[in-house]
Amino acid sequence: MVEPVKKEPAEDTELRDGKNAAGDAASAPETGTPAEKSPEDIAREEEQRAQMVQQLTTVDGWMERLHDPALGGVGLAFLKAAGSVLKREDIDFDMKPSAGYHSFIYPPKPGQDSFSNYVLYGAEALENAERLMGARTHEFVHALQYQTAAALHADPFNAATNIMVSPYDYLLRKERLEQDAYVKGAWLCALAAADAPDIVKVMESSPLPVSTFQNIRAQSADLTDAFEKAARDCRNLLGVWTKDAEKTVIADDWHARAIDEYERMMKYRHDNLQAGETLTFVRMDGADILEIGASFGPNTFVADAHNKSLTEIENLSPAHAQKIAEIEKKYSIAPRASLPTLSEAFAAAGTTRADFIAMAARAAIGISDAA
Ligand SMILES: [Zn+2]
Repeated sequence: MVEPVKKEPAEDTELRDGKNAAGDAASAPETGTPAEKSPEDIAREEEQRAQMVQQLTTVDGWMERLHDPALGGVGLAFLKAAGSVLKREDIDFDMKPSAGYHSFIYPPKPGQDSFSNYVLYGAEALENAERLMGARTHEFVHALQYQTAAALHADPFNAATNIMVSPYDYLLRKERLEQDAYVKGAWLCALAAADAPDIVKVMESSPLPVSTFQNIRAQSADLTDAFEKAARDCRNLLGVWTKDAEKTVIADDWHARAIDEYERMMKYRHDNLQAGETLTFVRMDGADILEIGASFGPNTFVADAHNKSLTEIENLSPAHAQKIAEIEKKYSIAPRASLPTLSEAFAAAGTTRADFIAMAARAAIGISDAA
């Protein structure tokens, strides 16, 4: 996959991802409309795009050769898996976070899929090929999660469905999908260290540095054990995640972003309900979490679907708990314990997990399946 995946033109009206909230670094909201581009700007952008293509060639080489001591040649499989599902991989010159995975576009334009499914890189990711490798592995894991996890399609941003996770589950989901992406990203980058030794230094400020993952793996019985420990480790990292904020665990920052997205989206969904239309809120169970951890390689959350800690947020701050309660009240969402599970909602709707994922990826506003 030497050429960047680029199967569809850019979208421009996303509410959640990349440009605003869902990148993997703090970002400022966009201000106003973009200014006219000067010839110098255009020349610089062309140069940056050429640089990205060149760096992706280097990264492709590293990825293709990734070899795990226990699992063998995982790199090519990873590259093929992500390459076969992503619609687009490109640079976004205005994006503040180093990279972002774009899941759903809301509202889609007539005839357009709600499921946008692409990765964008900001200029920061292009500082060097090691940095791009770090960003790319992380975002590719997100893309693969959306192929395996039905709960990620029960999303207020997914215009193709009225089934959506509760606000609590939206935060839980964000935490688990970030844990999985950081763990798998650090694992794959650690495997690249033989080819690209600088990746260890470059990834030192990540929530899960390559060196930390290497140490955890060295002390673990096997890779599955290492994944489980690394997932806990990255969630509890202390730091300052947004400008001028207080020091907190990074999970707290994931929760803050999730609340912001959920609130923004609920308002849109609520305002746009047709007469007689309702939203169905669900909670996730252990099986839903395990689907997220099944993105690629061994499951990050191990295999006991009945383990209660899978579906509980360990570090939910009182302020965020309060915010969740306010959203539930505002939109008359029943307490989480009394909500149906996603599986129960599928049973009631006469659909399956696989059909639900396929439906979300296929559906387009204004086009029926029969057309
Ligand atoms: Zn992420």
